Amino acid sequence: MEAYLDHAATTPINDVAVDALVRVSRLIGNPSGSHRAARAAKDLLELSREQIGSYLGVDASEVIFTSGGTESDNLAIFGSLKDGKKPVASAIEHHAVLDAVTESGGKLIGATREGVVNLDELEEYLKLEGDTVCVISVMMANNETGVVQPLSEVVRLARKYSPGAACHTDAVQAPAYLDVADLASGFDLVSISAHKFGGPKGTGALVVKKSSRLRAMLRGGGQEFELRSGTPNLAGIAAMAAALEDAVANRVENVRRIAGLTELLRQGLSSKFPGIKPTGIESSQMCNITNYCFEGLNSEEILFLLDSAGIFASAGSSCASGALNPSHVLLGMGRSKAEASGSLRLSLGVSTTKEEIDYAIDVIGDVTSELAAKKGILWV
Ligand code: PLP
Repeated sequence: MEAYLDHAATTPINDVAVDALVRVSRLIGNPSGSHRAARAAKDLLELSREQIGSYLGVDASEVIFTSGGTESDNLAIFGSLKDGKKPVASAIEHHAVLDAVTESGGKLIGATREGVVNLDELEEYLKLEGDTVCVISVMMANNETGVVQPLSEVVRLARKYSPGAACHTDAVQAPAYLDVADLASGFDLVSISAHKFGGPKGTGALVVKKSSRLRAMLRGGGQEFELRSGTPNLAGIAAMAAALEDAVANRVENVRRIAGLTELLRQGLSSKFPGIKPTGIESSQMCNITNYCFEGLNSEEILFLLDSAGIFASAGSSCASGALNPSHVLLGMGRSKAEASGSLRLSLGVSTTKEEIDYAIDVIGDVTSELAAKKGILWV
């Protein structure tokens, strides 16, 4: 038996996306050309742009195709930099935002123990420094804890104290579970990535509202309204549009079903270790992510034993070498290094079954209790 509980890392591509990927991969035209084959490719590109724009509640001309969430986030931050001004982001952002902000000398705002960006700290900072800020970035939902961020408050503070700054939200984890069009309506820049909602890996988009003045990062043929040069990945884009259509059309039903399975998982695990609550449980959370901090245990050891038993999960941030660092998200929430080093993220998706959950409850219960017993830790 196996259980794939790592859908927040990537979720399987769905059938409609595979069909589009295969079909469009056979098209020969480059959308930038002028002959008939090129025009056919261009038509498909623009149709996909319109579809994605309509699902995200923006005009087609505001959708810029990219290679995924990382590129969209980098473009949003680096493309918004202005002389003498700095970016601001929450300390619990994905590294694609976090590292772009710190490298640009920006400011990170902490989060509460329950995983919500600290609005008081943000307000204090913007009150003092609002004029010196060029972009404010707060994600829609956190990829480690699933906590949904108070975006309307973030925009209100940003417009009040930094009217000249762009507002960016990384919505990469959201489209399958939340209404991105509604939640991001006040934002100038919104990142999405296809492989988190049933599309292919290596394809994404950045919504760039007409209100923003973004600078391109790539030089070349001037595609994507001069904002992202390079021949677009047409098959990936068409597949992303198909996946997004499917995700939006089935969101309510999928959320209902996945929320039920997540509840089952949480109840099952809390009967194994009643003293440990999922991280961020007191906040508003997406239905598919559950995070535990097993203080005193080590994520790497837990994941190794789970992997051996066919359970695929993850911890906090993993670097390119696969080595695990204590989660910067949990540290940014004021959790101790011991808590952040023992984190376990279980993320469900559309293909998750009850059998997988039953199996996971048994194995995770056994593995963590065994490791705890070896270290003399008692779950209370
Ligand atoms: N932002 C968030 C919140 C993510 O969870 C991820 C991926 O895990 C990314 C950005 C990066 O997206 P991609 O893998 O498409 O580069």
